[in-house]
Amino acid sequence: MKITDWTVYPVDKNYHVFLELHTDQGASGWGSCYSERGQAVGALNWLKRFVIGESPLEIERLTEKLHQITFWIGRGGAITHAISAINLALWDVAGKILNQPLSVLLGGSYHRAVQAYGSILFVPLETLPKRIEEMKARGFRAIKLGWDPFGHQSLADDEKLVRMSRKAAGDETVLLLDMGGSYPFWKLRFKDALERAKMLANYGIYWLEEPLSPDDIEGYARLTDQSPVKIAHGEVLTRRQSFVPYFDRRAMDIVQPDVSKVGGLSEMRRIAWMAEDHGIEVVPHGWNTAVGVAADIHLVSSLPTRSYVEFNVGNALVEDLVDKPFRLDAEGCLPVPQGPGLGIELDRERLKKLAASGFASGTWTWDNGEDFEVS
Ligand SMILES: [Mg+2]
Repeated sequence: MKITDWTVYPVDKNYHVFLELHTDQGASGWGSCYSERGQAVGALNWLKRFVIGESPLEIERLTEKLHQITFWIGRGGAITHAISAINLALWDVAGKILNQPLSVLLGGSYHRAVQAYGSILFVPLETLPKRIEEMKARGFRAIKLGWDPFGHQSLADDEKLVRMSRKAAGDETVLLLDMGGSYPFWKLRFKDALERAKMLANYGIYWLEEPLSPDDIEGYARLTDQSPVKIAHGEVLTRRQSFVPYFDRRAMDIVQPDVSKVGGLSEMRRIAWMAEDHGIEVVPHGWNTAVGVAADIHLVSSLPTRSYVEFNVGNALVEDLVDKPFRLDAEGCLPVPQGPGLGIELDRERLKKLAASGFASGTWTWDNGEDFEVS
């Protein structure tokens, strides 16, 4: 049983690359990674020689080999992102060959459906109340709003935004707030974050996400200790080893690893169980693709505690590529796919079209005033 080849689909001009792994058994599997497109494709091309000819069932040995041979060359960055796509595709292939869903192969499924929260940005503010109402109508019982202008303006203006959001969402909806502290040149510090956390508690916000720069472990440890709302972060961290100091310092209430960055499902599983053992909740970061969302659903269903998966509403790579679209049940949960592997299939023709056309473009203005062109 051998891996014979793979196909790379760099569908998004900057961020998302899909990988389809082929085997001599006829089964193929899907992976995806979040990285800069050119670096991800380059890393995959470099890693390919170590994967072709290997057994698709020896997932942990093969993945650990890729981690070990890349100690000197960019581990934690695009190399680790690319390994995420390979590892995800290995799990999908193994599930198909063994004819088992990944929730079972990950150790066993505790839940037949997992709670989902709908995730959107605050902007454009003019349509925010309408978009919240649409998400509620679609069945989401939990909604996350993120990034600017929250945290880029006064505390009073931030409070106005939260008041407007709570009014649109109603008291019964779980509301989450993502400040996006991995934004370049992030300015807010511990006391700025703490005063916002105290304000958010008055509006019943369930968690505050990324209120500080990702590297500020000490700030996160103090904030987690003192904040009246839960503190969540971890979406930019990669490799299981990077999470250890945050867990040891209790520098978060909720950890948010991204399966398309950290090293795939193997790494996610180990991070998730480490977190469980430290009393930290796991909520996967899901601002990625349908492959990522399906993997997150399987992972969360294999954990004994009830958690959420993030569902990036309106993202074509999550919503428009799959044969069976993700549908919420009456409780606002996503059922665990019961087919083998990830339990989803992707539309190859649509992937090719997206790869040919590119996907994201525009301009970001960072907080130091510089513009960053995405083209
Ligand atoms: Mg976030």
